[in-house]
Formats: sequence, C-alpha cells, structure tokens
Amino acid sequence: MAYTWLGRESSRLSWQAGVAAVRRHYRAALGKIPSNCPLCADAAQGAELCLACAQDVVASMRGGHPRCPVCRLQLDQGGGCPDCARQAPDFHRVVAAFDYAGLGELLIGQFKAGRHFSHARFLAGMLEREVRHIGSPLPRHTILVPVPASRASIVQRGFNPAAELARYLAPCLALRRRPGLLVRSQEGGRQTHLGRTQRARQAPGLYRCTARVDGATIAVVDDVLTTGSTLNGIARQFRAAGAAEVWGLVLARTPYR
Ligand SMILES: [Zn+2]
Ligand SMILES: [Zn+2]
Repeated sequence: MAYTWLGRESSRLSWQAGVAAVRRHYRAALGKIPSNCPLCADAAQGAELCLACAQDVVASMRGGHPRCPVCRLQLDQGGGCPDCARQAPDFHRVVAAFDYAGLGELLIGQFKAGRHFSHARFLAGMLEREVRHIGSPLPRHTILVPVPASRASIVQRGFNPAAELARYLAPCLALRRRPGLLVRSQEGGRQTHLGRTQRARQAPGLYRCTARVDGATIAVVDDVLTTGSTLNGIARQFRAAGAAEVWGLVLARTPYR
C-alpha cells in the first residue's frame, strides 16, 4: 500500500517538475520575442517594458525615500504614517513594486482600464523582484489569495486584475494560490472613483473567508493599495479565521495626496 502511494506521489512530483520545466522554457522563449515597450514604444522583448522604463517605474520605490515600514507609504521627512495613524493595521506588512504615480499610474491604467490583461505576466515579475529585493521572509508555505473583484468590474473589464497577478506570481515565488479562500460577502460598489475617506468606510465587511486557515501565512494580492482599508478588512477576516500573519503584495502604492 505504502509502495503504491509512494509510486503515485513520485509520479505526481515528476509530472509537476515536468510541467514547471516546460513553463520555464515557454517563458524564456516568450521573453526573447522582439516587441515594443508598452510605455515608450522603444524596442523591447517579450511584450515587456524596455530597460529604461522598467527602471523609471520603480525608481521612486527604490530611491531610498523614507517609507512606512508597514504599508510602504512614502513619508514626509520626519513625519509619521497618516494611513496607519488613521487605522491601526491588522496586516503584518505590505510589499509594493512601485508608486501609483507617473509611469506607474500609466502602467496600471493600461492594465486595468485599458484591459491589457497580458501585462499581468511582466507586472507579476516586477512584484516578484520587489519581494526578492526586500529579502523576503515570506514562509515557504505562504498562501497567495487575490482580492476578489466585484461582478460589475469583471463584466466591464472581462477579468480580475488581482487574480491574473496571483496566477503568474504563484509559480514565480513557488507559493500556493487559493483564490477560493476569499469571497465578496456583498457586491458593494466599485472603489475606483471613491476618495480615501469613502474607501475606508466601504471596505470593512465586503469580504469573507471561506475556511479556517489556522497558523497560515496569507499573502493578499492586489493591484493598487490606496489607504490600506481593503487590506485591513481582509486581514481582520483572515486573522479571525486563524491566520498567523497577513501580508499585502501589491503592484502599486498610492502616494498621500
Ligand atoms: Zn520604454
Ligand atoms: Zn503606514
């Protein structure tokens, strides 16, 4: 019986290793196809950003400005974090690839409003690089959970940007992805056009987790973190369901305006 189980397990593992190898080769081949940079239209490869734009987009995040160590908001010299002061975070910390400003804002606009869902592959790569840049102490058994989109935004865009990101990010970081762990408990409205205060009021209670996650580390994946209130509401749900730690992995952090 044990032999049969081991046989099945080893064939499952070798099948997974085979699939991972095929994916790696596929990604490497895709990455060499000549293309134009989506931001400046200069020569690039694999439908990704050119080297100059890739550096410009992350320049402010990597520039060494003072930032909140928890939510990654860029801070005034010597000032505290207004978002964390307004609402004490229930999440452990946030990793953000770039600021939601300038080229970063343009890129997110193409991805979401422009419905360039194919950007998800290289955007997930940018987020992966930031996770590795901070010397990520994300535990090996961390579970990636995308923020569910409202029915209205899926109908409008045809996809959920957070879910697409998580789909590419999971194999990059060799982490599990369980989108079904979080659902919207009510449809609510879209938050795109809401201000910071309105978002903070709407976010709590919008989401609910579907299973116990005792002792787990959960990494919530989203495209933009504006005030932290959505992540906070979700973190509270996961903490109540037993999570040991809740992280936020987001593409872009909105500066305080
Ligand atoms: Zn470019
Ligand atoms: Zn903060």
